[in-house]
Amino acid sequence: MTPSPQDTLAAGLPTYDDVAAAAARIGGAAFRTPVLTSRTADERTGGTLFFKAENFQRAGAFKFRGAYNAIARLSDDAKRRGVVAFSSGNHAQAIAYAGQLQDVPTVIIMPKDAPAMKVAATRGYGGEVVAYDRYTEDREAIGRRLSQERGLTLIPPYDHEDVIAGQGTATKELIEEAGPLDMLLVCVGGGGLLAGSALAAKALSPDCRIYGVEPEAGNDAQQSFRSGSIVRIPVPVTIADGAQTTYVGGKTFPIIQALVDDMLTVSDQQLVDTMRFFVERMKIVVEPTGCLAAAAALNGIVPCRGKRVGIIISGGNVDPKALAGFLAG
Ligand SMILES: *Cc1c(COP(=O)(O)O)cnc(C)c1O
Repeated sequence: MTPSPQDTLAAGLPTYDDVAAAAARIGGAAFRTPVLTSRTADERTGGTLFFKAENFQRAGAFKFRGAYNAIARLSDDAKRRGVVAFSSGNHAQAIAYAGQLQDVPTVIIMPKDAPAMKVAATRGYGGEVVAYDRYTEDREAIGRRLSQERGLTLIPPYDHEDVIAGQGTATKELIEEAGPLDMLLVCVGGGGLLAGSALAAKALSPDCRIYGVEPEAGNDAQQSFRSGSIVRIPVPVTIADGAQTTYVGGKTFPIIQALVDDMLTVSDQQLVDTMRFFVERMKIVVEPTGCLAAAAALNGIVPCRGKRVGIIISGGNVDPKALAGFLAG
């Protein structure tokens, strides 16, 4: 047997076996989201597109998968003490909800000026919100202090073995349902979703080419991928707030380097056009970051003609007023 690229990955990094184990662990809790198709999208690209609709996942994004898996893997003692996360975005809500479903207390460190809707959603899922001043306080230091004082386990949004494995379960479901793919397009922030997706795709559809997609203004993952070491950039100005990370993770990057074929970028205008496409043609609400992968296909950034293409729609959490603004603009 020839060794697969996965066999060459270093110890301590997740493998496809971890994705499969995560799928069994989260099966009763995470939704098996639908795989959507669109004749218009197929006609426009010349390919056959399969959209994995994680905008319908619990708490509105794929992040629930990794959060639930990471919490489920804790010891009973650690579960009793609880977990802490810092995020103003989808990871916060995912941790709070996944904790509530497993009777694990959660503390979410959020900026004082986080959108009221997000704070309310996090509290609604049972999370204890600790507010900090993002201009004068260091959220990581607060997280460390809380984890020491209260024995909480810190669960990061992407650079964690169990988080990566959990995120990979969306692509596992996609390929099980759609069949083998020629190509898979996945958005990239810190790279947890892409790394997990790549593990699943290479195992279940070995000839599938895998592409990460980033906002043009924040192409740190593309720079890292092409230079071979992690590149850090200033906070990018883009409407894709879930991909405003300034560098990929130390655990996600080696997996991406080993398994991904290339990194692509799309503009904010292409994200807006894609949001409109989703509303008009497919009748679904997708947040800007969730449009990255589809935007690469619909704008011909990567040719899809004659190909079976998997596209991860990563989330649907967009403020209705902001959505209206994007669609009107
Ligand atoms: C977190 C997030 C991303 C980026 O995921 P990473 O694992 O950090 O690369 C993309 N889209 C949405 C909707 C997210 O919440």
